[in-house]
Amino acid sequence: MFAFIKSMMWFIKKNWYFYLAIVIVGISISLANLLPGTITASFTEALTNNTLTRDFIIYNILLAYLLIMILIYVVSTTKRVLQNRLKVRLYYALQVRYMENILVQDASFFEHFQAGDLLTRALGDVKSVNFSGSTRLLNIFLEFVTIVVTFIAMMLISPSLTLFSVIPLPIIFFFNFYLKKKVKRNWREVREEASKMGNVVLESITNVRTIRAFSKEEENYQKNLRYSDKVYKIERRNLKLNVVFQPVFNSVTAVATIIAYGVGSYYMLSRGMDVDAFVQFTIYLGMFASPLTNIGNLLNNFYQSLISADRINEVYNAKSSVLDSKDAKDISHVEEIEFRNFSFKYEDDDFYVLKNINLTIKKGQTIGIVGRTGSGKSTLVRQLVRQLPICKGELFVNGKFIEDFNQESIRSMVSYVPQEHVLFSRSVYQNVALGKADETNDDEIRHAIELADFAKDISALPYGLDTIVGEYGVTLSGGQKQRLAIARAFLKNSDVLILDDSLSAVDGTTEANIIKSLKEYRKNKTNIIVAHRLSAVMSADHIIVLDDGIIIEEGTHAELMALKGWYYHQYLSQQMDEKEVEHE
Ligand code: ATP
Ligand code: MG
Repeated sequence: MFAFIKSMMWFIKKNWYFYLAIVIVGISISLANLLPGTITASFTEALTNNTLTRDFIIYNILLAYLLIMILIYVVSTTKRVLQNRLKVRLYYALQVRYMENILVQDASFFEHFQAGDLLTRALGDVKSVNFSGSTRLLNIFLEFVTIVVTFIAMMLISPSLTLFSVIPLPIIFFFNFYLKKKVKRNWREVREEASKMGNVVLESITNVRTIRAFSKEEENYQKNLRYSDKVYKIERRNLKLNVVFQPVFNSVTAVATIIAYGVGSYYMLSRGMDVDAFVQFTIYLGMFASPLTNIGNLLNNFYQSLISADRINEVYNAKSSVLDSKDAKDISHVEEIEFRNFSFKYEDDDFYVLKNINLTIKKGQTIGIVGRTGSGKSTLVRQLVRQLPICKGELFVNGKFIEDFNQESIRSMVSYVPQEHVLFSRSVYQNVALGKADETNDDEIRHAIELADFAKDISALPYGLDTIVGEYGVTLSGGQKQRLAIARAFLKNSDVLILDDSLSAVDGTTEANIIKSLKEYRKNKTNIIVAHRLSAVMSADHIIVLDDGIIIEEGTHAELMALKGWYYHQYLSQQMDEKEVEHE
């Protein structure tokens, strides 16, 4: 519990006055709750002494009771309002913190944590922690206060009767201890399975087209069912635990009551204990038992949220492998990029994907990167947007280590069109506008769309620029998606433009148009084009051919053709393919 409180300190510190107010109000409730017992006692006393009068009933019993009830109502409502506010506040803070942590992560983080898993944690686990961090934690404390307060009140009536009555209580603590372990283990299983289920559900939804195309609905449904079934079974085991333990708490309190009645009757008959004192005592004993049961339930849920807290911390502790150093500087422009003896391997692999790369890219140059699939082209360009850590060798920007600049400013210098399109479920206009961090206008957007040779498609879209792209761009063709992404990059108009296989789904003419606008519009800027079709890089100032992570050939188109190596043969075979297409 203390570890949990410690992990919540960042929030408690900021909102301590909330916690303090709730504690004060909560203690007042415990104290106010003792008052009705005193009224019943004085009523019993008057009854046994035959001093009951009309005025006594009206003022000392009814009116007093009414006032006490109003008081209890006011403080209880105040407590509930405060607690709800605190809960909402904490929920918001937890969500923001969670999102902030996710947004700074690098690519390897997302390979480790799948989207469905992260979503499950963001919803279920954050909620569980939220409940515990706000209401549960305080309620456990306040129930404890109630126990102490009523215990003292009982002690004041009869110390020995009190001690006899609480004899069975240690059993509760013993069970609690046992329960804690079981609940925690079960809850971890529940959450882990829920995460797996989240992944499968998300996968099924996002890949629904493929699933249908391959008639895998039934198989997929069964897979979903299996996970749901598992979650159901573990949850049921959890419920069973609760069902078994709830009666334990109840029985213990029942035993305590029996003892109190037995011993109390004996005290009244042979030791002259007052009836009114005994009545008051039994009322307090009843009030003493309910927090015990409540604490049992609260602790059960609290243990679950300890696991949830661990799961959230796993996300927080997964430090990005690309981190800014303390004195990282902003970069204002990109003059030159240089890979020097640069090698890279992915964290989980034991082989290098890039080997001893030496490449200098100067401002105003257009660089072509070609090579077989899996040769390392994407890996190379992803280095420039700091998606991957530096491994071996150096990467310089403007003659300084790229690590010396802060990542965000590096990324702001680069318009990167990744191989997989990233489209949002918004209009075409808004999707393009994402390219620019600050305000943009219609003219800029239209210009970017023209440069990307996308303008000709806009009129064919049902609502033109306002057409909603649909989730993951489902309503656009492959080539349209690519050009939308390119338009976004043109709009950003940064020092470096990277097109990673972004022209693969467009026809030859469209490709030529885009290359043409690239040359005119980005004349003095750096362009990096990764492509399979060599026509896309033919006019580049420098072309490198990657094979298995090594630069095997480099030069201009003419130089590479003269080499008669991979590039030359690839070019010829692509030309032949094109001729065949023309003949058809
Ligand atoms: P393509 O032309 O198909 O896009 P590419 O040249 O861009 O291929 P990369 O994506 O850079 O190739 O991949 C190079 C190698 O690195 C491949 O062998 C691939 O399996 C491996 N690889 C790529 N991404 C990862 C990753 N996240 N973790 C581990 N290995 C990876
Ligand atoms: Mg690639």
